[in-house]
Amino acid sequence: MTVSFDVVVVGAGLAGLQMLHQAREAGLSVRVFEAGAGPGGTWYWNRYPGARCDVESLEYSYQFSEELQQEWEWTRRYASQPEILRYVDHVVERFDLDRDIQYDTPVAALTYDEPACRWTVRTEAGDEVVARFVVLAAGCLSSVNMPDIPGRETFSGEILHTARWPHEPVELSGKRVGVVGTGSSGVQVIPAIAEEAKELYVFQRTAAYTLPARDQPLDPGLQAAVKADYAGFRARNNAMATAGLSRYPTNPSSVFLVSAAEREAAFEYFWGLGGPLLLRSFGDLMSDAAANELVADFIRGKIRRIVKDPGVAELLSPKQPVGCKRVCVGTGYYETFNRPHVRLVDVASAPIEEITPDGMRTAAGTHGLDTIVFATGFDAMTGALLGIDIRGRDALPLKDVWADGPRTYLGLGVPGFPNLFTMTGPGSPSVLTNMLVAIHQHATWIGDCLKYLADHGIAAIEATPEAEEAWGLRVNEVAGRTLFPSCDSWYLGANIPGKKRVFMPFVGFPAYAQTCAEVAAGGYQGFALTRTGT
Ligand code: NAP
Repeated sequence: MTVSFDVVVVGAGLAGLQMLHQAREAGLSVRVFEAGAGPGGTWYWNRYPGARCDVESLEYSYQFSEELQQEWEWTRRYASQPEILRYVDHVVERFDLDRDIQYDTPVAALTYDEPACRWTVRTEAGDEVVARFVVLAAGCLSSVNMPDIPGRETFSGEILHTARWPHEPVELSGKRVGVVGTGSSGVQVIPAIAEEAKELYVFQRTAAYTLPARDQPLDPGLQAAVKADYAGFRARNNAMATAGLSRYPTNPSSVFLVSAAEREAAFEYFWGLGGPLLLRSFGDLMSDAAANELVADFIRGKIRRIVKDPGVAELLSPKQPVGCKRVCVGTGYYETFNRPHVRLVDVASAPIEEITPDGMRTAAGTHGLDTIVFATGFDAMTGALLGIDIRGRDALPLKDVWADGPRTYLGLGVPGFPNLFTMTGPGSPSVLTNMLVAIHQHATWIGDCLKYLADHGIAAIEATPEAEEAWGLRVNEVAGRTLFPSCDSWYLGANIPGKKRVFMPFVGFPAYAQTCAEVAAGGYQGFALTRTGT
């Protein structure tokens, strides 16, 4: 007999765990399928040395339980990967989540049965269950991008990816290590590997802007003050475009309205605060290319002062607008290139051609290596969803519907795919915000929606094509007012060969959350609701 649930959730990362909690709160039976052997998603897989969240810990946490908020004590301004995983384990135990999670169980296929208004969920092991609703919480940055470089199979040493780092300790001391990629993962792993390796070669294609994290032990006074009014703290953060860091509001002034000296002083102040706050020093840095160039130049000046070799400093100086690829936050990143055993290899001018049995060959020469670390990122936002064979009404494959890029209504639903919700999906603020806030907003919205459907005897909910069309226009219109679409980033899918370029996230959390609330209050406008028995 086929086992049946009200809700199947795909993924037991931070999104899937809260969704499980919310669906239970709505009185529904739930099963979560998770590919990994444990919970935590991103934080389960990305266990590379130096991995640390670049969102402040007081904000990168769940807000669905006041008791949880009060009892958990963060130790650092930015939590390390092991600390976040301890938090995840605590949440799983405290809310007894494990009993509804099936680990080591990747989902292979989802097929909608229209007459029954049910999804059949097939795991890679071939087991099937049936569910009225499916929530995809498979992660925005979980489908690993491993570049197809010839000769990989011939390499005699070890090949690693930051997002699939082994659970066992990796021995790097005394070794010649190559790191490919200088995005957020590379910027964190490179200084950590430099501590151990005999020689470190960093293969850089595009220099990224790296702002100093200024990580430190968390001020107990700050933690106590936030806990004294966590609800107020969350509400103030929710009013920010990025859903965070309301303690440091954006200076609304244009950078062009102040003198050069005032501008430098403001840049210095925000640089000193650490993290991505430099982008809050003036109101027009992310909307005006000339304003952005001023802050870009400020960062390049910092790089020139930190990095002793002028040629290396020049190579490390990015050319694209700041923030159009996600800014990196690091500790000692640029300083690492002053160490005598660390070499920067420019693979923009001389691309990687081949992995050989004992190293990496670029167009400029060969570097002998014992270990290669790929920090080459992800097929973001759509990769994990399209990795599942999802077939909606009339067996329509999602990959066909999204052949020209993802199209959604509110990043929550897709026409032709009734009773299927995407969490933090394309078309929602997602990766442009504090993910934990985006997750909370989606998990509570979907949880409320499921309860509404049950209370009103509704068997199926489906985004309408008109609503999806209008939403797509709005996502593009809002993004078009910013510099985000102005360079080749993973936000656009530009990091994956052959992927259609569509700007995927929605810019601006408060307007988005308000729209979602209005849609719900209006009886789920833009969604077609089918009553039981109709
Ligand atoms: P990423 O930002 O996509 O960076 C990948 C890097 O690999 C880029 O430098 C890219 O160069 C390079 N690359 C890719 N293919 C290559 C090839 N064939 N040859 C040479 N270089 C190649 O990936 P990521 O660093 O893993 O970060 C992804 C996102 O995850 C971040 O933006 C962030 O949202 C999240 N993240 C967060 C944290 C944190 O909280 N601290 C840490 C890690 C990741 P190009 O730029 O030229 O393509």
